[in-house]
Amino acid sequence: MDGVAEVLKRFWGYESFLPLQREAIECGIASRDSLVVLPTGGGKSLCFQVPAVRLPGMAVVVSPLISLMKDQVDALTECGIAAACFNSSQTSDEQDDVIASIRSNELKILYVSPERLMIDGFAEFLNQQTISLIAVDEAHCVSMWGHDFRPEYRRLGSLKRTFPSIAIHAYTATATQQVRDDIVDQLRLVNPKVLVGSFDRPNLLYAVERRTDVLRQVCDVLDRHKGESSIVYCIRRADVDDLTDRLQKAGYRAVAYHAGLSDEERKQAQNAFIKEDVDIIVATVAFGMGINKPNVRAVIHAGMPKSLEHYQQESGRAGRDGLDAECILLYGGNDYGTWKYIIEQSESEEAVRVAHIKLGDMSAYASGVTCRHRALVEYFGQRLETDNCQACDVCFGDLELADDALTSAQMILSCVFRLDQRYGADYTANVLVGSKEQRLLEARHDELSTYGLLSQYTKKLVRDWIEQLVGQGHLEKRGEYSVLSITPRGWKAIRGEETPRLLKPADKPRRTVAEDSWDGVDRGLFDTLRILRRKIAGVRSVPAYIVFGDTSLRDMARKRPSTVDDLLEVTGVGQAKARQYGDEFVATICEYCRSHSLEQDIDPTIRPAPKAGRVRKYSKGTRKSSQSTINLSKQLAFGRFDKGESLVAVSDAIEKKPETALKYLLDYIAHKKLTTPEPWVDTATFEQIAQAAKNVGTARVMGILKELDGSASYDDIKISLACLENQT
Ligand code: ADP
Repeated sequence: MDGVAEVLKRFWGYESFLPLQREAIECGIASRDSLVVLPTGGGKSLCFQVPAVRLPGMAVVVSPLISLMKDQVDALTECGIAAACFNSSQTSDEQDDVIASIRSNELKILYVSPERLMIDGFAEFLNQQTISLIAVDEAHCVSMWGHDFRPEYRRLGSLKRTFPSIAIHAYTATATQQVRDDIVDQLRLVNPKVLVGSFDRPNLLYAVERRTDVLRQVCDVLDRHKGESSIVYCIRRADVDDLTDRLQKAGYRAVAYHAGLSDEERKQAQNAFIKEDVDIIVATVAFGMGINKPNVRAVIHAGMPKSLEHYQQESGRAGRDGLDAECILLYGGNDYGTWKYIIEQSESEEAVRVAHIKLGDMSAYASGVTCRHRALVEYFGQRLETDNCQACDVCFGDLELADDALTSAQMILSCVFRLDQRYGADYTANVLVGSKEQRLLEARHDELSTYGLLSQYTKKLVRDWIEQLVGQGHLEKRGEYSVLSITPRGWKAIRGEETPRLLKPADKPRRTVAEDSWDGVDRGLFDTLRILRRKIAGVRSVPAYIVFGDTSLRDMARKRPSTVDDLLEVTGVGQAKARQYGDEFVATICEYCRSHSLEQDIDPTIRPAPKAGRVRKYSKGTRKSSQSTINLSKQLAFGRFDKGESLVAVSDAIEKKPETALKYLLDYIAHKKLTTPEPWVDTATFEQIAQAAKNVGTARVMGILKELDGSASYDDIKISLACLENQT
């Protein structure tokens, strides 16, 4: 694993690994077959890209998504990694160029579609080159049990025969055991390391609301993410057109996407969204496959999806960059019926049966009262380790429980019983609230003892409660008309042996996404940098996020680096991007900070980052910008380091904390390319640290500290490591 952390930092600008990434990369480096199952946004690409950079030769990445290959290649090229793709959408001249660069060993990574790999002896041609590894992306496509089986993936089974000594690594976000086993089988993986990550996405805030005024509810969410990207899913094309129209009239930058539009119109809509010419895409389920825009801040479902698989996949398109994002589901009583109608029109009898079950599960989620993260994770066969996810409406306590849930539940259940378990939810709610509906009076249900028992509540609330009882398994919906019947669990509640949970609507405002990821970020600067990013992306004809992700822009607007060297401290800024865009971004940051009297070169680890507002260091009338002071103190420190002054002395002289002096010293060592740390660390200690670094790795400061058992300080180690880095 030597040098892996360094590759991660140098090319991608990341400081640490995401869960299981290190283990997956280890398999790549050690050439051991692997199957890596990580959720969307789990960072699967780096699991094969990092070993590809580190190992000699070229990695072959099989991917079914031709439309995504160009993005992946562009993203790698921007990071300074030689990559290309080979697929049927290319002209023969383009293909010739790729073949030439393969022959001349220029490439580190080649993306290829499965059909292209398996024809014309292409695999045999590749076999004559030095291949570092084979990565099969979206590996669930190999399995009939997956949701996206592709026959051409089946032929990948012969890869092991063609490349017997090359490790094959499979990657997917599909969780079921059946699919996993099938992938291992079909690809003939040999003793593979199987790594399965948690399917929970803690950065996604899940909430469900009953749909009342769809435009207002959608706008409420969009307004929390002004100028950022959101997706709104609707069930039907007509809903998409209608909502897009209303959003546009209300001044939102929205565009529609559904299968009723021409290929060209869809492509335009998708591009406008990816390039951030619009903020919002309103779409049916047709939208999303092959979109890996990482900075979607909200996914709103204006109607209930038809299964939890769909919901997880669609809502999972939010926050792939790991920053907080919202997933809001607005559902209404008629969603179930709408889907039922659609499903029954177009699918076979068996498919309809399965679809009904899935629809029921989805409905139970929507009206459910258990933690949303838990409900989703458990549905996919995993456990949630925490009792309070801190990221859903249920755990936030936004949905208050009704005070006397047992009595209300008993009233509902007895009403179902009095109605001979022959009526649906809507009718039952009407009886309970004492409706004067003609049909009800004609059936003389106003004479039932349960008639009007819950008349102090709205019909909408009672209807919700019925759904909640279905969700918790006290009631069941049966047959074509979703007639309610009481389950054994329901009878327990009637006997008072267990208390169902019923929600009462929240009357306090719902909490929104955590502010942590905005801590210290100057939003004005963030917006300015987004404009610069969009401009650069436009000129280079690449999606905006390929230039820099939101995580990087927020970190820039937090740290506000004053030099390209300092820019390298920002997450997601590797050396190639710093070289390519550094000057432009730093100039924009400096200009913005100057005109807003903002402090620069903030190190959030040293002192609490200022709240999203502005830090004005100087009172009115002082014309000097804070930027020049900061540079001045660094300059002062450098002058004193030149004279060999100690860290304590320098920290006193520049009136900064010792941590800041240390940071300046590390910058000084890098700047002067010092290879030995005298006079700040003596030679004997330096040698000890160098030895320990060899044993435990240079990335592990705490490991070295432990290994030396207190004979060197944290500062000694940081200073020595900085010098060691200059020796390589
Ligand atoms: P997946 O393919 O699993 O959906 P990606 O490979 O697209 O996920 O990665 C999701 C996002 O996470 C990307 O924006 C990627 O750059 C980022 N990412 C990957 N690894 C790291 C890391 N170690 N630190 C920070 N961000 C990372």
